[in-house]
Amino acid sequence: MPQAMAQAALLLREARHATVFTGAGISVESGIPPFRGPGGLWSQIDPAFMEIDRFRAEPRESWLKIKEIFYDFFGKAQPNAAHFGIAAMEKAGRVRAVITQNIDGLHQEAGGREVIEFHGNSRWLACLSCGRREAALAERLASLPPYCSACGGLLKPDFIFFGEGIPEKALQRSYQEASQADLFLVIGSSGEVQPACQVPPLAKARGARLIEINLHESNFTPIADVFLQGSATALVSSLAREIGLNSVL
Ligand code: NAD
Repeated sequence: MPQAMAQAALLLREARHATVFTGAGISVESGIPPFRGPGGLWSQIDPAFMEIDRFRAEPRESWLKIKEIFYDFFGKAQPNAAHFGIAAMEKAGRVRAVITQNIDGLHQEAGGREVIEFHGNSRWLACLSCGRREAALAERLASLPPYCSACGGLLKPDFIFFGEGIPEKALQRSYQEASQADLFLVIGSSGEVQPACQVPPLAKARGARLIEINLHESNFTPIADVFLQGSATALVSSLAREIGLNSVL
C-alpha cells in the first residue's frame, strides 16, 4: 500500500471527529462536470442566468436554461462509489458530517445523513415571496416559471445564485464543524470558491489534520498533511477498505 494511503488511513482511524468537505470533483464520475475548465458548466451556461437580479427580471428565460442544465441533465445523475464510501464511513461512526458545496443531492441519495449543503440543493424549490419550500418535482417544472401554490410568488431553485448569501444555518454548522473536527477530509474541490474555501483552512488553524483527495493539486494542497492524488471513487474506496469497511467497493 502506498505510504500516503497508509498515513491517511491511520489519521482517519485515530480521528475523534472527522468531517468531510466536498466539491464538484466528487460528482464528476457521476457525470456532472465541474464549473471550470474544458467541458465545464460555464462553457454550457452563461453565469448571468444565475444572477439573482437577472432571475427576478427575466424568470422564464433564466428558468429555461436552468432547467435544461440542473434538472434535465443533473437530475439523471446517480451517486458514485465516493458518495457511497463516505456514507458508509458515516454509518460506521468514522465520519461525523459532510459539508458539501454541491447542489446535486448525491450524498443524501447515497445514504448520507449529516449533510451540510453550503450552497443549497437543486432538488428543492423556494418561494421568493413567502419562503415556502417544495420538492422540485417534474410536474412543477412542466410550465415555466413555476409559481408558489400557497401565495403565487415566483419559485426559484433552492440553491444560491450570484448575489445571494450562504444559508445561515449551513454557514454556522460548517464553522462549528471546523472548530470541532480533528480531521478534515477534502475531496474534489479547487478551493477557489468563496467563502466555502475558508472552511478547511479554518479547521486546520484550529488544529485539525487535513487529508486531500484530488486529481490535481488545489489551493488546499499546501496545507494538506496528506495529499492523495487520483480519482475520488478509487481513493475513497481504498480509504474505506483500509479502515476496515470491506463491504464498500
Ligand atoms: P471546482 O469546479 O472549482 O473544482 C473541481 C475540483 O475537482 C478540481 O480541483 C478538480 O481537480 C477536482 N476533480 C475533478 N474530477 C475529479 C475526480 N474524478 N476526482 C477527484 N477530484 C476531481 O469545484 P468546487 O471547488 O466545488 O467549486 C465549484 C462550485 O460549483 C461549487 O460551489 C459547487 O457548488 C458548484 N458546482 C456544483 C456541482 C454539483 O452540484 N455537482 C457541479 C459543478 C459546480
